[in-house]
Amino acid sequence: MTVGTERVGALFAQTYGGEPAGLWRAPGRVNLIGEHTDYNEGFVLPFAIDRATTVALSPRDDRVVRLVSTFDDRVVESDLGRVASRDFDGWAAYPLGVAWAFGERAVDLSRVHGFELAIDSDVPVGAGLSSSAAIEMAVAVALDEVWGTGLDRTALARIGQRAENIAVGAPTGIMDQAASVFGEADAAVFLDCRSIAVEQVPLGFDAAGLVLLVVDTRVEHSHATGGYRDRRDACERGARELGVTALRDVTVDDLPGAEQVLDDIVFRRVRHVVTEDARVQESVAALKAGDLAAFGRLMYASHDSMRDDFEISVPELDAVVEAARAAGAIGARMTGGGFGGCAIALLPGGDAAGLADRVLRDFADRGWTAPVPFTVVPSEGARALR
Ligand code: ADP
Ligand code: MG
Repeated sequence: MTVGTERVGALFAQTYGGEPAGLWRAPGRVNLIGEHTDYNEGFVLPFAIDRATTVALSPRDDRVVRLVSTFDDRVVESDLGRVASRDFDGWAAYPLGVAWAFGERAVDLSRVHGFELAIDSDVPVGAGLSSSAAIEMAVAVALDEVWGTGLDRTALARIGQRAENIAVGAPTGIMDQAASVFGEADAAVFLDCRSIAVEQVPLGFDAAGLVLLVVDTRVEHSHATGGYRDRRDACERGARELGVTALRDVTVDDLPGAEQVLDDIVFRRVRHVVTEDARVQESVAALKAGDLAAFGRLMYASHDSMRDDFEISVPELDAVVEAARAAGAIGARMTGGGFGGCAIALLPGGDAAGLADRVLRDFADRGWTAPVPFTVVPSEGARALR
């Protein structure tokens, strides 16, 4: 048993007494490439990481629902009637939002049993690794099993997204949930955000002696939400003015024509999305061909596009990417929505500690908050533990 399963088992026993009926686990994720492409119905390439949320769950004989998390000490008491009417708040909105979404899509909440749930996670919250998808998908695989709904992984991902969009109220795509359920060891999840078709793409980092270093800059900009909204609006406007359903339908060859009709800012937003979609597809081809150097160049190009065309980088993210370049990383880029958060670098395993030190020194020299560097390993997706 790993530390996570011992901890969640202990929390379950201490809160409810006895052993849980089962344990389930779902990971967070890192996006390798494909930023701000999801809501433009394009492509993304995340992978599931070796940090996960573990849940212990037992069904009850009645309709009561009880929840506890290592997140705080409070035991949340509810019942399936309140879940069905979306009556919950705080962190409980994530697990109970998933139960609510099952009610909408897969079960009659007036006919299933309540449950006792304990939650533990080693996915840091708000660090850009999607602790939210990890908790949603761990609860989703658990409820799917105890309620006997037998949903496929795409349906589970949609339930997680629905919980996040409606129950929590965060307007996110399906990337995080898809990465968390479809992840495999040493592979990325190539997701078509229009069709929700998924293909696992072997990464081969380990065999090539490469590691993926994440640097959490700890920068959290107050205008991140407004900036996200603004970029979405610009993309919608670009699609409308180009007469397409979504920017997914614009190709790199269409860009010179688009430049003639769009204003400069909208054009640059469109160019980022269109070239980023192309970079994701080229990345998949490069990875399938085992050409990690080509993939690394696409990572750098993605960063340049986010910095110059989409304008969502910040000096701290640029500094990590420049330090990675100087340290000989084969690729590096900011990852996530931008305006702060994490950057990633792909580099020889022996160089990761050196880059982490270099970034810590750079940030200290500039008087910035100390960043948090750590490596992540492409790992398997949501599953039951036995
Ligand atoms: P992230 O980038 O980590 O996904 P979000 O703001 O989307 O950040 O989701 C974080 C929220 O998810 C937390 O504030 C909390 O409400 C919920 N959450 C994440 N992990 C846990 C956990 N282990 N226990 C309870 N709630 C959690
Ligand atoms: Mg999240």
